[in-house]
Amino acid sequence: MDLKEFELIYKENRVIIKDKPEIESKLKKIVGLNNISTKEVDLLAYTKDSTLLAFNWEIEGKIAGLPDYITWPETTEQISEILKLANREKIPVIPYGEGSGVVGGAIPLYGGIIIDMKKFNRVLEINDKNLTVTAEAGINGMNLERHLNAKGYTSGHIPQSLYISSLGGWIAHRAAGQFSTKYGKIEDIVMGMEIILPQGELIKFKTIPRASTGPQLDKLFIGGEGTLGIVTKATLKIWPYPEKRSLISYAFSTIEKSFDAVREILREQIYPAVVRIYDKFETARHFPDNIKAKDKVMTIFVCEGNSKLVDLEESITREKCELNSGIDCGDTPVEHWIESRFRVTETSSMPPYKIVFDTLEVASLWDNAAEIYHHVLESMNKFKGVLMITAHVSHFYPNGVGIYFSFGGVPPRGISDLKFYQDCWDTIIKGVLDAGGSIAHHHGIGINRSHWMDREWGNAMSTLRQIKNMLDPNNILNPGKIYTETWKRGED
Ligand SMILES: Cc1cc2nc3c(=O)[nH]c(=O)nc-3n(C[C@H](O)[C@H](O)[C@H](O)COP(=O)(O)OP(=O)(O)OC[C@H]3O[C@@H](n4cnc5c(N)ncnc54)[C@H](O)[C@@H]3O)c2cc1C
Repeated sequence: MDLKEFELIYKENRVIIKDKPEIESKLKKIVGLNNISTKEVDLLAYTKDSTLLAFNWEIEGKIAGLPDYITWPETTEQISEILKLANREKIPVIPYGEGSGVVGGAIPLYGGIIIDMKKFNRVLEINDKNLTVTAEAGINGMNLERHLNAKGYTSGHIPQSLYISSLGGWIAHRAAGQFSTKYGKIEDIVMGMEIILPQGELIKFKTIPRASTGPQLDKLFIGGEGTLGIVTKATLKIWPYPEKRSLISYAFSTIEKSFDAVREILREQIYPAVVRIYDKFETARHFPDNIKAKDKVMTIFVCEGNSKLVDLEESITREKCELNSGIDCGDTPVEHWIESRFRVTETSSMPPYKIVFDTLEVASLWDNAAEIYHHVLESMNKFKGVLMITAHVSHFYPNGVGIYFSFGGVPPRGISDLKFYQDCWDTIIKGVLDAGGSIAHHHGIGINRSHWMDREWGNAMSTLRQIKNMLDPNNILNPGKIYTETWKRGED
């Protein structure tokens, strides 16, 4: 299909570049002839990220946003020069990791220059004494982890998208890996960073375990979603590769019972690396042959690290599960999870069959976690066209959880796919806010959630907007995300 045949969805705010060849030749001077493209095939490749909505649109011959130039800079100076040029000419710039984001964060809604970070792909230093690794921000997650594993370490940050996401993308979206209950989320793992601000200035945050040197400015960029600066380099905590792993699983009669068991484990300061609670529907879907878990809530644990500590963690984990009447299901369910944990065929197989499907994650304290779960299921089940709403809980803290909902359905006659999809998202998010939760646990805001930001943040949102305006007065860096309501509404 020819690019011209695609319908452009976000066209109103598109920045029209008057002299495109002139800008192209300036960009060529900055990055070199081989590091820029305006070929249709490349432009098309950068019209979307992994948002299900964008995937559906492409099947229908529509594209969300169309970039004007794709660049692959190799040095921080080149990124800086691109940003200076973009400010002079008021052209949008969109940092691009690996496009695995699922909220439209990397979609070039206003057109402009894509800065693909793939050439920032080196591991720069491993420091065994400090237990740190420093790497460039465009490095692929699996390449970083393989490099660490080969030298006897792990970063402990293993998102399901490990093979298809980058270090910079993790930082930009405040990502969380599957082993996060022990190792922490990306904000716990990042120790130092280099950032290029929207107007081209490079700033460096010291690598230090902690400091009392005023507000923690670096945290502003963790979750900045490419709107406040471009991450070029980061130093992360690492750990010796675990000596031992214990695989444990228990089935509980209710999600409340499973919550109680996990909460009691964490209260003892026992942190299994992986904890996953599957509601009854997901238990039936993922563990159909497990007789002991029939009509129950499967809960799996991976304890890892020093073998003596793992033995202790395992015994306390088992004790708490049994006190909450858990039924021991052995290690097979955990082995099944380990073997299938990077497989996501479920999601991508739905759109061609016209089933509207997606997942979204939210956060809550312990005291309303079960309420949020039931409230969302109830409101979604009342929603016409919804065929399934299920959840698993895969990120835990002594104080609360991250809940991950999956929904699917077929829009009732006369309702467009887009409207149905957005109404499902809004129903879940409204349910979460009404019950006191937070609208996103680790996928970020992008375009899918920006219209909920004022309710999520309250009047603090205007402070965030002022910070954006101060750092990026021309609004060139990833415009249309986080701060403005950009989600184009579907029609009946
Ligand atoms: C199958 C699948 C499984 C997933 N599993 C997980 C999971 O387990 N945990 C999780 O947290 N997420 C998960 N995600 C979501 C996604 O992988 C993360 O959001 C990831 O952090 C995005 O990284 P990326 O490099 O692909 O970023 P992109 O999608 O390219 O970009 C995401 C955002 O970051 C910005 N950005 C990218 N690089 C930089 C940079 N260097 N500096 C500044 N801004 C930048 C972009 O502008 C954009 O706003 C999953 C996604 C998929 C498709």
